[in-house]
Amino acid sequence: MSAAPARSGAFDASDAPSMEGLRACVHCGICLPQCPTYRVLGQEMDSPRGRIYLMRAAAEGRLELTPTLARHLDLCLGCRGCETACPSGVPFGQLLEASRAQLVRKGVRAPDTDHATTRWALETFPHPARLAPLLWGLKLYQSSGAQAFVRGMGLLTPFRKLKAMESLLPAVPSAVSLPELVPARSRSRGRAGLLTGCVQRLFYGDVNAKTARLLAAAGWDVVVPRSQGCCGALHLHAGRLDEFRSLAASLVQSFPADLDVIVTNAAGCGSALKEYGHWLADGAARDLAAKARDIAEVLVDTDLPLDDLPLTVAYHDACHLAHGQKVRGEPRELLRRIPGLRLVEIQDSELCCGSAGIYNLTEPAMAEELGRMKIARIRESGARIVTAGNPGCLLQIARHAREAGLDLEVVHPVDLLARALRET
Ligand code: SF4
Ligand code: SF4
Repeated sequence: MSAAPARSGAFDASDAPSMEGLRACVHCGICLPQCPTYRVLGQEMDSPRGRIYLMRAAAEGRLELTPTLARHLDLCLGCRGCETACPSGVPFGQLLEASRAQLVRKGVRAPDTDHATTRWALETFPHPARLAPLLWGLKLYQSSGAQAFVRGMGLLTPFRKLKAMESLLPAVPSAVSLPELVPARSRSRGRAGLLTGCVQRLFYGDVNAKTARLLAAAGWDVVVPRSQGCCGALHLHAGRLDEFRSLAASLVQSFPADLDVIVTNAAGCGSALKEYGHWLADGAARDLAAKARDIAEVLVDTDLPLDDLPLTVAYHDACHLAHGQKVRGEPRELLRRIPGLRLVEIQDSELCCGSAGIYNLTEPAMAEELGRMKIARIRESGARIVTAGNPGCLLQIARHAREAGLDLEVVHPVDLLARALRET
């Protein structure tokens, strides 16, 4: 749905939330039980319907853009569970992002929101040159035994946000570098660009390497442009549209125009890529959006030779895969093709785990509640391996499993497919 062309109420004309989208809400309330913040707080204004009411009132000039309105939008995870539930097709994600962009531009800030952490994350994560030294320090923190001491003594307990960040830390891996071309290992299907992501390439470089290996085994020439940067997903969700557009435009330039598909293994990045056509008005961005695919969408159309993997695995639907990209069946189908693997469903699989980009850093109280709820559902499933197609979910679920004392392996579906892949 395109942005409204003229000023509406408290919103100016630049990227205003669509009035048509706001008015599509018929207030039925069907989305409420699917909204994580409504489930936890039970407050209308922290539900999709309440948030739409606020945005529409502002768009119709009945409400100013106030810190209170901003706070209700800040507390939203942007998970888009409400979009899946909504029978009227309300494009909640785009309405939220457009409204946040206006709040940011006009400097309307909720005092309870952690703006400093947001700014730090947005200025650090997209820049590998800034993240790399940080990772080096974290590696030293872990290998020196300092982490075990800090955790064992509970030294960060009084500092909730610092503790939230520290608790998410996985064992910092060694860097994995990929060649710029990984050639197809069977008759070539075409050329696939691989998005390596900013956080993904540092924390889950092995998942990128396995993604390239699976694509090559399935017959794709895998192109990994060295010049690629961040896709801008975090900035888009935070309403930093100028920075988002600048990052997106650079990313579009870094991928050759002759690629057949552009593959990502991070749900949040994939969802943002697929929306480039909405937010960027040029043909190359629309072209990239049309070629963007989650790895599961690509592999499901191939016939990978897979060996036995006798495991019981639970699947968690990453929000930006299930709700953002409507990709639910393909990862399940791929996992079911692994001989011996038993796939189990978890209750509320599509309810956000609390990760939501940097949400678990900026809103630790809500994120922790949702993380605990997710672990309870996984525990009930009986599976001791859980898989999800998004790095943020992997970190969040692993953290809460650790804290709940649940012995749980948390892996990307690509990891399981790569384990089962028969080398020919
Ligand atoms: S995006 Fe998620 S958290 Fe926000 S209103 Fe919709 S369901 Fe609720
Ligand atoms: S967003 Fe959709 S499901 Fe939710 S109240 Fe409005 S019309 Fe109903």
